[in-house]
Amino acid sequence: MSRVYNFSAGPAVLPEDVLREAAKEMLDYQGSGMSVMEMSHRSSEFEGIIQTAEADLRELLQIPDNYKVVFLQGGASTQFAMIPLNFMKNKVADYIVTGQWAKKACEEAAIYGKANVIASSADETFSYIPDLNDLAISEDADYVYICENNTIYGTKFKALPDTKGKPLISDVSSCFLSEPMDVSKYGMIFGGAQKNIGPSGVSIAIIREDLLENEPLEIAPTMLKYNTHVKAESLYNTPPCYAIYICGLVFKWLKKQGGLAEMKKINEEKASLLYQFLDESKLFKGTVREADRSLMNVPFVTGSDELDAKFVKESKAAGLMNLKGHRSVGGMRASIYNAMPREGVLALIDFMKKFEEENR
Ligand code: PMP
Repeated sequence: MSRVYNFSAGPAVLPEDVLREAAKEMLDYQGSGMSVMEMSHRSSEFEGIIQTAEADLRELLQIPDNYKVVFLQGGASTQFAMIPLNFMKNKVADYIVTGQWAKKACEEAAIYGKANVIASSADETFSYIPDLNDLAISEDADYVYICENNTIYGTKFKALPDTKGKPLISDVSSCFLSEPMDVSKYGMIFGGAQKNIGPSGVSIAIIREDLLENEPLEIAPTMLKYNTHVKAESLYNTPPCYAIYICGLVFKWLKKQGGLAEMKKINEEKASLLYQFLDESKLFKGTVREADRSLMNVPFVTGSDELDAKFVKESKAAGLMNLKGHRSVGGMRASIYNAMPREGVLALIDFMKKFEEENR
């Protein structure tokens, strides 16, 4: 067996220990005589899995008691619709557009009400986070929306906007559990699992209780009402059982690593190795304003489309996979989520050094 270094933006690398544990339990989950994939979601075994996963997530993020946690389906993209359907009581919301995912969320909200773009970095291909001082928050905004880590462009909010008392809703798909967060600053946090915390098929939403007192829009389907899932403790219908199980194993792994403060340290170190190399390189260049650099997604270019293509091809042959940038921006992107070992980042830097020498 040979494992590669997988720099995919998602679905992405998972901790090897987690995959081994899942393999060990594949045919017989803890003496149940069956795989988690074959198990009723109403069984006591699965109840244990989902309840432990929630408890571990609460512990990792120190989620206050007045927040509900739900495991949902439909990817983060379904949240783009659920958010306005559940929270747009005045039919007004403010969006900070820092990339394609925030733009898509904003366009989805515009189907149901007025979605104002109160700040944007579209003018410079989303390579920075806009000025957050004195934002024109709408008086009647039901919420303010951000995408906290922009997977495609490699930017990250280093501070949260002052929402002037309006609930802040944040898409954390690509920075979920990469560092500690103060959950109490948000009305809601959500993300798809397939980048930093598990396989695709499950999304997690953490919602402040008072927001759940809102009556959803009349047209909201039952499955798209948060309260449907909150009241049934994520078991209203058949949930993505196996994906939730793997997330649970990842939460245990994160606890074993020392929790999120420790992950932050490790992630900062990995990212700074790569950024430092990019800053010193005569061939490669990072594409993001320094102050706004993501710890998770690192885009870079050589300045020549031809060399970029050569780099992607040769890196793949060297066992460094999925370094091609998003189709909308080109160049390269290294996603270095929690499960990417430091050795993977060092292998990438070594390869880049060699490529630079050969192609100067
Ligand atoms: N938000 C962000 C920040 C993302 O990176 C992605 C996926 N790349 C999405 C939302 C959409 O997620 P999904 O494919 O789960 O709908």
